[in-house]
Amino acid sequence: MSARVHLVSLGCAKNQVDTEAILGRLLPGGCVLCATAHAADVLLVNTCAFIRAAEDESWRHIRALARAKRTGQKLIVCGCLPARHQAAAARVRGVDAWLGVRAAAGVAACVQQWFPLTHAAAPANGVPIRMTPRHSAYLRIADGCDHHCAFCTIPSLRGRYTSVPLQTLVGDARRMLAEGVRELNLIAQDTSGYGRDLRPRRSLAELLTALCALPGLAWLRVQYLYPASVTDELLAVMAREPAICHYIDMPLQHINDGLLRHMRRPGRAMTERVLAAIRARLPGVALRTTFIVGYPGETPAVFRELCDFVQTGMFQHVGVFPYSAEPGTPAGALPDTVSPREKQRRRAVILRLQQRIAYQHNCAQIGTVMPVIIERNAPGGMHGRRRADAPDVDNCVHVRGARHLGGQIVPVRITRAEPYDLHGQVVARRANTV
Ligand code: SF4
Repeated sequence: MSARVHLVSLGCAKNQVDTEAILGRLLPGGCVLCATAHAADVLLVNTCAFIRAAEDESWRHIRALARAKRTGQKLIVCGCLPARHQAAAARVRGVDAWLGVRAAAGVAACVQQWFPLTHAAAPANGVPIRMTPRHSAYLRIADGCDHHCAFCTIPSLRGRYTSVPLQTLVGDARRMLAEGVRELNLIAQDTSGYGRDLRPRRSLAELLTALCALPGLAWLRVQYLYPASVTDELLAVMAREPAICHYIDMPLQHINDGLLRHMRRPGRAMTERVLAAIRARLPGVALRTTFIVGYPGETPAVFRELCDFVQTGMFQHVGVFPYSAEPGTPAGALPDTVSPREKQRRRAVILRLQQRIAYQHNCAQIGTVMPVIIERNAPGGMHGRRRADAPDVDNCVHVRGARHLGGQIVPVRITRAEPYDLHGQVVARRANTV
């Protein structure tokens, strides 16, 4: 195949991994990426449909590209949106192929059919091509979810929880490290459930141990843990292995028992037990979570309970989503008891509370020296991240003295704090300090 492809990849890191798999089929097969839609042969949108806002964004991109499409161009839409809205998708004019999730082979087949090979090119080998910077990569360890939280469409879109075999992951990680990756970020809808569907059964603790044995790995981060499957064995490995960042990203969604029950989530007592165990085993751990506000039945008193919980100050990073009723989910059938305006207000309240807490956490860092991975050149200097910050979602450190150190891990003295970001200075130009 030989085509210029204009790519729009929407949604979270988990969807980005699907896009990387698509690129792994197209680019070795002779396709090239093209920054502008007008100059492309193929317009490709990998969509997200996790919540209404994400769907709206996906539709905006599809309609804009379909309207601007010129004769001879082809438009492919894949990902969660077509998987979720087959009937609506069929009514949109101008789209040449609707494909669902995990669409790499389907996209390559379409492009091959429309734009056959016109020059010698490497055969498509299917090895994903990363969209992340050279030094950092996502490794998706499983796909799908078996939890069936009442508000969530993911299980219907992505299917049953399916772990990637351990040896495959070790092989993928080894290849990435050979390419220069220093930081691996493990992702899945539920990373802590890793391996329970494999035979023989595996665990996240086993996977982490195997990955930590690989040479060249500096930082290993686990995102999206599910409270009920955080085990002592897992925390012991996280405490023991120096490469593993003491960073826990555990979406909690809420803290009120009644609401959690309606959400079909673990209750408050279990959540607090797990949080206490994490903080005991990993002192100084950076905790990240996400909450939903305005869920049906979230009265002012229930919302205050959530505010009080946030105000305990234990989280370094908090994300907040206003609840959106998703058709086809059990919660979607409930009356929406909180107005859109009130949901936005509650979101703003939590974010304001958290901003003060994040600032206090940041101020406590002033004067300390810590490893920072230098990410990119930005106005005013280089940006980096601490072990306490995940890529794409968390804050950054504005680092002086780090020009030409992109991709390296260097010791940085923190000199100033903002509500979210930090400022610092490289203290020694000794690279690869972890
Ligand atoms: S654990 Fe996460 S992905 Fe799975 S159903 Fe619940 S919210 Fe959705």
